[in-house]
Amino acid sequence: MRSAWGISAGLVTGGMLMRPVGASEASRGPASSPTLSSIDKRVSALEQQQRMRPVVVCGPSGVGKGTLLRRLIADHPDNFAYSVSHTTRNPRPGEVNGVDYHFCEKPDMEKMISAGQFIEYARVHSNLYGTSIAAVRSVGEAGKTCLLEIDVQGADQVKNTDLCARFVFIAPPSFDDLETRLRGRGTETEEKIALRLKNARDEMAYLDKKGYWDTIIVNDSVDDAYAQLKQAVCLS
Ligand code: ADP
Ligand code: 5GP
Repeated sequence: MRSAWGISAGLVTGGMLMRPVGASEASRGPASSPTLSSIDKRVSALEQQQRMRPVVVCGPSGVGKGTLLRRLIADHPDNFAYSVSHTTRNPRPGEVNGVDYHFCEKPDMEKMISAGQFIEYARVHSNLYGTSIAAVRSVGEAGKTCLLEIDVQGADQVKNTDLCARFVFIAPPSFDDLETRLRGRGTETEEKIALRLKNARDEMAYLDKKGYWDTIIVNDSVDDAYAQLKQAVCLS
């Protein structure tokens, strides 16, 4: 499908790949012919390794990232969890500290940044946001695939780590739809809506980067977008 932004949705080849399980053994050549059951085991180990790769999800504010990721976690609570980010923005009504974000004061977050406690951090819509090493580690320790809902500056930084993440971009069907959703959510002041819409243009420019995204999803119908997200995270 093609959106009003001129984006083709679907799987984009060219993402990072982990060294496959047993790759070094394979390059040496097997001592004896592998049995079907050993091949089966290797394939399922590879599939498991693919499923466990962290997933970075980007897209402009209001596009529906949270809507899709919350559904994924609700449907598969044993398999997926958010890395809970730190932010200096104020909590919205209903947001819970430690669940939606670790809400913190700017000097505290700056101290953590200086201490090297973040995998990535960025100034987004005039606040600091960041993914701590501890947040990603705790999801891995729970045996779940880590979902990082971050902006494109953060994605650039994750690309330079050995996290071996998959990169998914959620795009709106049109700029008008994005504006309607952002307003409809009712969480931002006029001033903040204007800032988020302005920044949306910079985020969308990342779609021009060849080979950057493993998957681009146009969130037109939530159900269709969700089906594509499941495919992107190896659930179908
Ligand atoms: P983000 O996390 O990307 O900032 P949200 O998940 O908060 O975005 O979604 C913003 C608003 O858009 C919410 O009110 C949500 O219910 C709505 N929304 C999400 N996906 C769709 C869609 N496909 N069609 C219409 N509205 C949507
Ligand atoms: P919100 O204020 O709506 O919760 O988040 C605004 C934007 O901040 C999100 O759309 C997302 O792109 C970005 N964001 C959230 N958490 C992080 C984070 O940990 N790191 C970075 N770099 N960006 C984040």
